[in-house]
Amino acid sequence: MSAFGGARVVVTGSAGFIGTHLVRELDLAGATVTGIDRRPPSFDSPGAHLHLDLLAPVAGAILRDVLGSADLVFHLAARPGVRATGPTVEEDRRRDNVDAGRVVLGLTPLDVPIVVSSSSSVYGGARSSGLGVRPSRETDPLAPRGGYARSKAALEALCHERAVRGGVVAVARPFTVSGDGQRPDMALSRWLRAGAEGRPLEVLGSLARARDVTDVHDVVRGLLALGQRGETVTVNLGTGRPCTLAELVDAVAAALGRPVDLRIGPAGEEEPAVTRADTTRCRQVCGFVPRADLTALVRRQWDSLRLAVAA
Ligand code: NAD
Repeated sequence: MSAFGGARVVVTGSAGFIGTHLVRELDLAGATVTGIDRRPPSFDSPGAHLHLDLLAPVAGAILRDVLGSADLVFHLAARPGVRATGPTVEEDRRRDNVDAGRVVLGLTPLDVPIVVSSSSSVYGGARSSGLGVRPSRETDPLAPRGGYARSKAALEALCHERAVRGGVVAVARPFTVSGDGQRPDMALSRWLRAGAEGRPLEVLGSLARARDVTDVHDVVRGLLALGQRGETVTVNLGTGRPCTLAELVDAVAAALGRPVDLRIGPAGEEEPAVTRADTTRCRQVCGFVPRADLTALVRRQWDSLRLAVAA
C-alpha cells in the first residue's frame, strides 16, 4: 500500500499554489482527498472539492463533519502576501490567517494530526552574527515584521494552544516558495511577466538582498513527511542557501533568453535583508534537505507561466 493509501485527508487552501501541488501528490500517494477552498480548483485537480469559505455562516456544520471524519488535515488556507496593501488588509489577514485557522484547529478532533502552514516571515529575517548571516532556527524567538508575519505568529500561538490541549500539530515554516504555478503577486512571477513584456523588473531595496528560494515540490515533500510522522513539531522548509536578488534577476534573464531592465525602489519595513533557513531539523524530521537549482527552477516556472498565458 502506498504512503497514504486509503487515508482520508483534508486540505484547506487546496486551490492555491502550494495546495494544488499537495493535492496532486496526495492523490498519487493513494489518499482520498477532500480539498476546501473558496476558489474553484483547476479543472484537472483530483479528489473531492468543497467550494467553501472557512468562515461562511454555513461552514461550521459542514467542517465539523468533514474534519471530524478525517485521518489527517493540512491547513494551508490563508491570505498570503507580505506586501499586500489596502484599507482592509489587516482585517483580511486576521480573518483568513488567524480566525480561519482557529476554526480549523478547533473543529479537527484532537487525535487527528494537523499540519499547518505558517511562514518563514515569523523570523523577521536571518540575524547577522560575527561570521555573517546566521540561519534562522525553529527555536529562535519570533520577530515578525509587518502584518502578514504577525498574523502567522498569531496562528502559531493557536497551534501551540492545541498542542497544550493534547492535540497533534505540526507547524511548517516555508521559505519563498517557487516553481510552476507560483502566485502572481510574488516577485519571481512578477519579474517573469515584466521581463517577457519588456517592462523593467521592480526590485525593492538592494540587489544584494537575499532570499532562501525553495522549490514547491520540496515544500510539498516536507508537508507530506510531516503528515506521515503525525507529531507535534515546528520545521523550516528551506534550503539554507539564500540567493541574492541579483542572482534571481540573472536566472529570470536566462529563462527568458533576453536581457532585462531593472527599476530599484525602496524596500518596506517588512522586507528583511536576508532570509535563510537552518535545515538541521528538516533533515532530522523530514529526512531530506530542500536543494534548489535556481536556474532550472526559474526556467520551470517560466515554462508553466508561458503555457498559462497562452491558454
Ligand atoms: P495561495 O493564496 O495560492 O493559496 C491559499 C488559498 O487559500 C487560496 O486558494 C485561497 O482562496 C484560500 N483561502 C484563503 N482564505 C480562505 C478562507 N477563509 N476559506 C477558504 N479558502 C480560503 O497561497 P500559497 O502560496 O499556496 O500559500 C499556501 C500557504 O503557505 C499559506 O498559508 C501561506 O501563508 C503559506 N506560505 C506560502 C509561502 C509562499 O512562498 N508561497 C511561503 C510561506 C508560507
